Amino acid sequence: MRKCSKSNCKNWAFYVSPLNGRSFCQECFTAFFINKVRRTISRKKMFTTNDRIMIAVSGGADSVCLLHVLKNIETKFPKVELIAMTIDEGIVGYRDGALKLAQENSERAGVEFSVVSFKELYGASLDEIVANTAGEKGVLKPCSICGVLRRKAINIAARELGADRVATGHNLDDEAQTVLLNLLRGDILHLARLNTPIQKHEKLIPRVKPLENIPEPEIPLYLYVNKIQYHTFSCPYAEDAMRTDIRQFLYRQEQKHPGTLHSILRSFEKIQPVLQKSMGSDGIRLCKICLEPSVSEICKACKIIEKENFT
Ligand code: SF4
Ligand code: ZN
Repeated sequence: MRKCSKSNCKNWAFYVSPLNGRSFCQECFTAFFINKVRRTISRKKMFTTNDRIMIAVSGGADSVCLLHVLKNIETKFPKVELIAMTIDEGIVGYRDGALKLAQENSERAGVEFSVVSFKELYGASLDEIVANTAGEKGVLKPCSICGVLRRKAINIAARELGADRVATGHNLDDEAQTVLLNLLRGDILHLARLNTPIQKHEKLIPRVKPLENIPEPEIPLYLYVNKIQYHTFSCPYAEDAMRTDIRQFLYRQEQKHPGTLHSILRSFEKIQPVLQKSMGSDGIRLCKICLEPSVSEICKACKIIEKENFT
């Protein structure tokens, strides 16, 4: 058994960080975790002191953790407003349980809660879209459809709720995976646009990821220590084979060489401005059909909806 590394703390440690060998008692771990998020927010200038921040809460570990940590940090900034919003994609047997936990956690945190569903926004649930297109040639995978429709839904909800920023629960592992995934797929444009809290269009609410420096394993620890419940079921459609391979590869690298994930993110932050310069402006305009921001004449969501004939 080890003692907590914090000077003056006499408690027994329950966690040793593989990154720096420091040991933490439960209380000091909570303080360390919140400080790390606070530093990320301030280093990346994610918020101003009077922002209305919409937290995209799915009910899973990452977003529930973000909700409670932001609530904790926000107490020092009385002009900041937090609102929680859940997207109901319409996935039977999965979303209902997650939605309940998202709502319960928002109530516990004392944060206003709302839900936006695919059905009300697009006229069909994800289950219906998937069932309707099953077996068709060239049809997108459920996660690709879901990702496009969810991004648009989050932006519309943020605007309607008067939010200045959208905060999502992506953690360090997610971000390192995304960088590598886009490199391997050759999607440099996506890399250039990743994680920029700058508002590029008046209808596009900037997104930030305050947990981007938190290693994935520390999130359930934080929730456990603070007795916070979250949804643990996996979505029945989850199956990005390439991301799974990258996740496993990065997991092994991080075990062998602690710090690899941070190195990927820091390298990416240095490369990104160069990428953005060379790719030129994003050329954001309004989609001809829905009048939402888009990089092409017709936005990806409308292409999906039009193709599937759900309007
Ligand atoms: Fe949507 Fe895929 Fe996530 Fe399920 S796993 S919620 S389909 S993105
Ligand atoms: Zn559109």
